[in-house]
Amino acid sequence: MAMDLDALEREMTAWRRDLHAHPEFGFEEKRTSAFVAAKLREFGLDDVTEGVGGTGVVGTLKRGSGNRAIALRADMDALRITEQGTQDYRSQNPGTMHACGHDGHTTMLLGAAKLLAQEDGFDGTVRFVFQPAEEWGKGALAMLADGLMERFPFEEIYGLHNMPGFPVGHFQTRAGPIMSAEDNFEIVLKGIGGHAARPHWGNEVLVAACATVMNLQTIVSRRLSPTDVGVVSVTELTTDGTRNALPGLARILGDARSFRPEVSAEIEKQMRIIAEGTALTYNVATEVTYTREFVPTLNDAALVDAAFAAARTVFEPDHVSTAREPMTGSEDFARFLEHVPGCFAFVGNGKQSAPLHNPAYDFNDDGLLYGARFHAAVARQRLRSA
Ligand SMILES: [Zn+2]
Ligand SMILES: [Zn+2]
Repeated sequence: MAMDLDALEREMTAWRRDLHAHPEFGFEEKRTSAFVAAKLREFGLDDVTEGVGGTGVVGTLKRGSGNRAIALRADMDALRITEQGTQDYRSQNPGTMHACGHDGHTTMLLGAAKLLAQEDGFDGTVRFVFQPAEEWGKGALAMLADGLMERFPFEEIYGLHNMPGFPVGHFQTRAGPIMSAEDNFEIVLKGIGGHAARPHWGNEVLVAACATVMNLQTIVSRRLSPTDVGVVSVTELTTDGTRNALPGLARILGDARSFRPEVSAEIEKQMRIIAEGTALTYNVATEVTYTREFVPTLNDAALVDAAFAAARTVFEPDHVSTAREPMTGSEDFARFLEHVPGCFAFVGNGKQSAPLHNPAYDFNDDGLLYGARFHAAVARQRLRSA
């Protein structure tokens, strides 16, 4: 039975504004996940499971006899930002707001669930994955650790993010890297502090720390291939020194970005060589901690083609385009792509939209129906009825 799309759009707008007024931080999405689960049950899904990886929700819809399964994913968390907007649906939780449009992503996926539950048009299993804590880069891992792939198996996965500055009704993605990895590092230097007037009596660490910071600049300029993209940024240097006392302890903190796991591995390797070599030069001890907060989002070429084909049935064909370059932001969706191939894509949030993570940001409701219809189209395309 064909659905009244105007009515669906009105309904989705009301859901989105309700979610926007009640933002919740990562792993605290209790009201949001209860809202999502209640809607999915109302649509008549075959199964709705709450509490997957904390506050995650997975809905399952089966039709026909096909044994293939695909997943459609949305994120539900908000940010610790104080909203500046004056809309009547502005945040009612002081200090927390939907500044990344995850209220819109959740609503688009709910709209797709309603469309697919009512209209069918596919043969197989669709998993609706609503993940918590995307902004932390922890929610996808929590769902995976809670047995997502074993309990709700699927073979491919698709996700959308809105993009400010890009017109509503436009769709963009690319094969290969689309979002960057984010690695964090900490280098601790230990020596012997002492009187500023007698540096030779101790073994202070500040000069060694400064040399380390300078030497780290050669990783990208001298160690990575000129055709590889990487960023190494030292963001903090602190010591326990004071006005007339040399420090015995220094901490260097920073952030590194890359688009290929091999580049991330090379940055870590070179950082360890430089930190240890510089510490040796200055006869101080060093310890490097290197963590991968987000892995790069790597789209599967064949499934990008499938996503483009589905998008052309929803968006004007000339509003569907290939992104020329990846973005240096990071996405927790990448963790799912470590298990199955998939495609992450961008939809326009309008030229007038404030940037993501800005206190004036708001998801553009004019984009809701496009997102819901894209999700439904990709499910029908990939689980085509015989
Ligand atoms: Zn964000
Ligand atoms: Zn986001």
